[in-house]
Amino acid sequence: GKKPGETISRGHKNYELMLNLQLGIRHSVGRPAPATSLDLKAAAFDPKEKIWTRFPTEGSKYTPPHQSCEFKWKDYCPVVFRALRKLFKVDPADYMISICGNGALRELSSPGKSGSFFYLTEDDRYMIKTMKKSEVKVFIRMLFAYYNHVRSFENTLVIKYYGLHCVKLTGPIQRKVRFIIMGNLLRSEYTIHRRFDLKGSSLGRITDKSESEIDSTTILKDLDLNFIFKLEKAWFEEFCWQIDRDCEFLEQERTMDYSLLVGIHFKEISANGEFVPCRRRSSSGNYENESTPPDMEEHFLDPKRWGTIKLGANMPAKVERTIRKPKSVFHLVGEQTGECYEVIMFFGIIDILQDYDITKRLEHAYKSIQYDPTSISAVDPKQYSKRFRDFIFKVFCEDT
Ligand code: ATP
Ligand code: CA
Ligand code: CA
Repeated sequence: GKKPGETISRGHKNYELMLNLQLGIRHSVGRPAPATSLDLKAAAFDPKEKIWTRFPTEGSKYTPPHQSCEFKWKDYCPVVFRALRKLFKVDPADYMISICGNGALRELSSPGKSGSFFYLTEDDRYMIKTMKKSEVKVFIRMLFAYYNHVRSFENTLVIKYYGLHCVKLTGPIQRKVRFIIMGNLLRSEYTIHRRFDLKGSSLGRITDKSESEIDSTTILKDLDLNFIFKLEKAWFEEFCWQIDRDCEFLEQERTMDYSLLVGIHFKEISANGEFVPCRRRSSSGNYENESTPPDMEEHFLDPKRWGTIKLGANMPAKVERTIRKPKSVFHLVGEQTGECYEVIMFFGIIDILQDYDITKRLEHAYKSIQYDPTSISAVDPKQYSKRFRDFIFKVFCEDT
């Protein structure tokens, strides 16, 4: 099908910025460097550990001539990110091809409210997000802990970050653009039919789209959730354990406002585009239509496929439809209907770089006047993590 986003070609307002980013990445990743060790010295995490490179249009001893505007490029903690890429098993040449290859990047029409811009690489593997200065600060502050966390927990659901950079336009318009490069959690050979961004808070956590407008590109939120997710026993246990570790980490780093991004691929779809349940409770309370679609069995039985399943990616699962009681908006989880669907799930924790700073404290204070304080997204990190987990453990359960 058609890929989402607008391709950034010549004439696009961010065309030069994209070229700068690609030139910068090629420079950072392609630069000869000593063999990367995963045991890093403390100095590698020093916030002063950054490299500025000038990219004059005519080229320099270190940089090629180029068609874009003159700019400066900053690499934050390059040694750490090199190690992260190695840890995440990213081959430097492949990484460069994904981001700087012939394909152009695509700009997504800003999916979040924060004003960040998002870009997708041609091959959908990587997502590039512009960062606020405060988010960069938070990330640098937590980089050491982040590194240790992702190194200790292979199955962590926390988003993988591969690089942090800054482009400074030195022409008549001086401006700095900071970028983070992360994995695209919902990249898959399967079509993602529904996506949910879940926080466990209720205030404003609903899409502004009407029922008929909702499609595979809509970012649905907590109050739109009309499913519970059922994982196979061993996976469910691993999932709960890992969510606890990941939340402990985020709480310790005093961040909040993160969410669990969930993508669902439905295995069986009717000719008119409706999801076909594999199991349904009849009015007598018995189950009917209990069957496993044939290709699902293949998925379960094919050992080659099992090898590609990681916690949160390619996971065979079931979802059960729920019905939300009208008006009870504070009930984040609806009533179960017994109607189940075979799905493939994808999920991970994103947007982890917001700390509980003065603006979030103020947001909490003024919204508390009008609304139930527990419904507001902005709460202190400890409360945030507790509410997030309570919610996640309600909507995920063991498939029995
Ligand atoms: P806000 O602060 O208002 O929540 P934001 O600008 O910080 O927004 P994010 O929450 O990071 O934006 O992302 C917005 C949306 O973009 C997510 O709900 C998700 O649909 C998509 N998205 C973000 N990061 C990823 C990722 N790594 N992989 C796939 N999709 C992503
Ligand atoms: Ca977010
Ligand atoms: Ca955010």
